[in-house]
Amino acid sequence: MILYQLRCAKEHEFEAWFKDGQTCERQLARKTVECPSCGSRKVSKALMAPRISGSEKKQQSANLPAKPAVDENRHPMSVMATTMRQHLQEIRSQVEANCDYVGDKFAEEARKIHYGETESRGIYGEATDQEHQELEEEGVEVARIPWLPRSDA
Ligand SMILES: [Zn+2]
Repeated sequence: MILYQLRCAKEHEFEAWFKDGQTCERQLARKTVECPSCGSRKVSKALMAPRISGSEKKQQSANLPAKPAVDENRHPMSVMATTMRQHLQEIRSQVEANCDYVGDKFAEEARKIHYGETESRGIYGEATDQEHQELEEEGVEVARIPWLPRSDA
């Protein structure tokens, strides 16, 4: 709360409390502040420096977000990370069970399959960024999978 010294058009001075400086400005602009002596709504601030209620420290800490709100925000993040990790572990298991590992020959093998030079099957292996880009440009269907180490469960 801030106490402002106000003055009406007929130079009556009076004091009024506002939630903050912004609220004071808004209420003065909307002419919702009335002079208690004559009822005039042509009111402006008499003093530039407002007096602030309570200690300044108290005012500052009131503006900080409450601690529980921060903790609540943190929780969903950790849940999401766990779900994502489980999901990736699952993808890895699926790929390992259903695809042939071709190591760094991945780009070569992917092309052969794409152009029908070898049997159509699922494969997995390593490819460089450039190989990955080239495959995409050729229209070869590949997916980049974040590979989690198995032990890190
Ligand atoms: Zn007045």
